[in-house]
Amino acid sequence: MKYDVAIIGAGVIGGFIARELSRYDLKVCLIERENDVGMGASRANSAIVHAGFDAEPGTLKALLNVKGSEMMEQVAGELGVPYRRNTSIVVGFCDEDLPKLQTLLDRGNKNGVRDLKIISGDEARALEPKLGPTVKYALLAPTGAIVCPYELTIAAIGNAMDNGVTLVRNFEVKSIRKEGNFYQISSGVGDDIEAARVINCAGVYSDKIASFVGACDFTITPRRGEYLLLDKECGNMVSATIFRTPTAMGKGILVTRTVDGNLLMGPTAENITDKEDTSTTDAGLASVRTMAEEMVPGIPGRCVITSFCGLRSVGDKGDFIINNPIPGFVNVAAIESPGLSSSPAIAEYVVELLKKDGAVLNARPDFNPIRRPAHWFRHMSLAEKNKVIAEKPAYGRIICRCESVTEGEIKEALVTNPRPMDVDGVKRRTRSGMGRCQGGFCQPNVIGLLAQELGIPFEDVTKCGGDSKLMFGRTRGGKM
Ligand SMILES: Cc1cc2nc3c(=O)[nH]c(=O)nc-3n(C[C@H](O)[C@H](O)[C@H](O)COP(=O)(O)OP(=O)(O)OC[C@H]3O[C@@H](n4cnc5c(N)ncnc54)[C@H](O)[C@@H]3O)c2cc1C
Repeated sequence: MKYDVAIIGAGVIGGFIARELSRYDLKVCLIERENDVGMGASRANSAIVHAGFDAEPGTLKALLNVKGSEMMEQVAGELGVPYRRNTSIVVGFCDEDLPKLQTLLDRGNKNGVRDLKIISGDEARALEPKLGPTVKYALLAPTGAIVCPYELTIAAIGNAMDNGVTLVRNFEVKSIRKEGNFYQISSGVGDDIEAARVINCAGVYSDKIASFVGACDFTITPRRGEYLLLDKECGNMVSATIFRTPTAMGKGILVTRTVDGNLLMGPTAENITDKEDTSTTDAGLASVRTMAEEMVPGIPGRCVITSFCGLRSVGDKGDFIINNPIPGFVNVAAIESPGLSSSPAIAEYVVELLKKDGAVLNARPDFNPIRRPAHWFRHMSLAEKNKVIAEKPAYGRIICRCESVTEGEIKEALVTNPRPMDVDGVKRRTRSGMGRCQGGFCQPNVIGLLAQELGIPFEDVTKCGGDSKLMFGRTRGGKM
């Protein structure tokens, strides 16, 4: 199959570019090395739609953050993804922090961020009663918001697929060469993928992909960020997202409620060399606790339900690298924070680059921007739920007790673009396994449903693709 455009990397950036291109009469292919989409930075980040006061005025980060933040509410609505404009608050603890907050305010005003203001510690505590007594000043950004980053990625890609984009998983791009008018994209196994244009959205590996076509004048350093996620019992400790003043290594540790009602704290910031190292460390998690405690004292450590780590793609140019270095090839690299916030705006920017590069883009009249919300059933009234259950009894059978996820919701996710192919994929789409017990009760049932839908033996179902098998034979005969 020959494609007009191949996008390498099914993260939030590749996903939104795929969706944007599906508006046009083009054959588009989205290539991902993993068993699922959104497996890089797009699944492990702070989930903040930044208002846009951090980036230096005049940078791509500033331009695309503010634009993306303004687009996000509508885009999340179209894609049926939870989004909440919850306000961002940057806190300062001493007089030396005040000029830092003033710099952020000035930058934000230059970048076009609306309604920023600096308030006193007491005013901040009146808004957020759990803020610590040592908070002396705060910058208030009412346009700051939160979103679920992996649901956003899955939904953007699902909508792109519904509009004709092909997703190719488990295809790790290992070389690219140009033959005639087409790029030959190879994994070294099976057939190559041929495409007239290539868009490089490979996250921490975007420098490697660019080097395959001799178009790499940048490097990407992975910067680790570790987090603690707490039970919903603590979700109401804060309403806004609370940041410390930023440092050269980034925005620093934050405390935030998530759109699903949990409490999240982190991330650390540590440059590393291994682009696969997403381990958490005792020291990293301890520093998260200490810093968070100063901002919001009394966060109960016993409520931690899991920890995780994401890798930022830090470029050596100090800005997003979005360019068209050779005909038919576009780099979308160094998309560190605020990449999630900027994602819909980056997609529009890339389409403009393609037009300048000579791509012919004819709008498709049948493009449909709407995707059914993944959690439509959860948000129904009891009476509405009972009506659905009377017609489809699977919606009356609870599989995940912590998050109240039904068999009907899981079965629906299993046939919705992009279909989950493993247990973690079901978890990210339905929240089954996301709760307090982290899958202890629901996992065997999820494995059974996956085996049934994929038509594979129970023992062949994996946690996250590859050789991550969960079962090694039956302990009793008969059915599960
Ligand atoms: C700790 C942390 C906190 C953050 N917080 C925020 C925040 O609050 N707000 C915000 O706006 N931004 C935030 N960000 C930034 C945001 O997460 C990223 O900008 C965004 O997720 C980048 O998306 P991406 O698609 O470019 O990269 P990724 O999501 O990493 O996707 C790249 C994809 O390419 C695939 N790939 C790589 N190599 C190959 C290959 N050879 N062949 C095929 N596929 C390949 C990978 O498997 C991956 O799926 C944060 C990032 C981190 C790490």
